[in-house]
Amino acid sequence: MDIRINLERLKEDIESLSQIGRDPKGGITRPSFSKADLEARDWLKEKIKSAGLALREDGAGNIFGRMEAEGKTIMAGSHIDTVINGGMFDGSVGVLSALECLRRIKEENLHLSKPLEVASFTDEEGNLVGDFLGSRAFIGLLDREILERGLTQFGTPLADILKGTEFTIEGIMEAHQQRPDIEAFLEIHIEQGTVLETENKSIGIVDCIAGKHYRWCSFLGEANHAGTTPLELRHDAFLGLADFSLKSTQHVATKHYGNMVTIGKISVRPGAFSIVPGQVDFSFEFRSTSKETLNELEKSLFALAEDIASTRGLKFTSKIVDKTDPVSIPPRILNIIKEENKKLEYPFTMLPSGAGHDAQILSSAAEVGMIFIPCEDGISHSPQEMIKWEDLEKGANLLLHVLLKLAS
Ligand SMILES: [Zn+2]
Repeated sequence: MDIRINLERLKEDIESLSQIGRDPKGGITRPSFSKADLEARDWLKEKIKSAGLALREDGAGNIFGRMEAEGKTIMAGSHIDTVINGGMFDGSVGVLSALECLRRIKEENLHLSKPLEVASFTDEEGNLVGDFLGSRAFIGLLDREILERGLTQFGTPLADILKGTEFTIEGIMEAHQQRPDIEAFLEIHIEQGTVLETENKSIGIVDCIAGKHYRWCSFLGEANHAGTTPLELRHDAFLGLADFSLKSTQHVATKHYGNMVTIGKISVRPGAFSIVPGQVDFSFEFRSTSKETLNELEKSLFALAEDIASTRGLKFTSKIVDKTDPVSIPPRILNIIKEENKKLEYPFTMLPSGAGHDAQILSSAAEVGMIFIPCEDGISHSPQEMIKWEDLEKGANLLLHVLLKLAS
């Protein structure tokens, strides 16, 4: 069938959504349940209604627009929240492309045998309490304890942030009870890397999504006078971390090349001139597209930390924050995406996703698929995030054809 999305309309949508939550420091700041996000939600709901779709919102603030039919739902979407000073394409490309696909299908009066839905999931970026709040709520994977006790990155409990909204922790916990049966979930997203740009391809067909392991860790030593404690008698917690950061990276680079390890935040205590650091706390994460490798890294990296601690007279402790399993895209979905792309004759490559996405969470309830489009220099989570509109047009056309294939 020769049907195409309307790029001008999609572009206009992406540009007008990007006006909501403009940050004076640059980019867009639109974390879920902020004033800007509430405004963006109203904007999206209006768009869904004016497209003639049935609007639904669940207790977690996930927003859906539905075209009714019999059978299991074929869903496509992403998120409209952003990181602080984020870009205008991360997430919004997925939600608004899906909306455009459904609009075109409606305009053509196509009779489909399965229901179609566009979805926008709350707090994919993890500004509140862990990543994927909305999609996790939708699937029923949330821990009430974390919602009640956890602090958001703004230093306040989630309940405080919900106060200015119609949402409650109770409602978030119950969101999954309203979930329809879903057969497949498709997400189009910017690559957030440079593979497509380097290979000069408009389309990336994702074959797997990396799993990750997040921990808060500490090396505990002994604070002491920096002028009088001889170097060989110190239990310097910071040196433990310095040693660990280099050796853990070396380990992954030499034995598990292609996988990731990152220390993203550190705090040294007491943290002053003239005191040997007695404690250092740090975030530690590693990622892999293979579950075996993730398990192997968990063992080897923590053995390395213990080893460094004992050599340096320190203690190592760690506490798990979050863990997601890698996801392989099911062969049926991969084949459909590949076949539809072949018909459209778009240059493509297969690639893994190093970043996590809502599709990863949806994979425990549905078959999922992901389409990437290039972003300039691989830059994302930044005001500099940029795409070529012709790539988006191709990606959204591919999504449209995959949805039609799945729903007919
Ligand atoms: Zn995203």
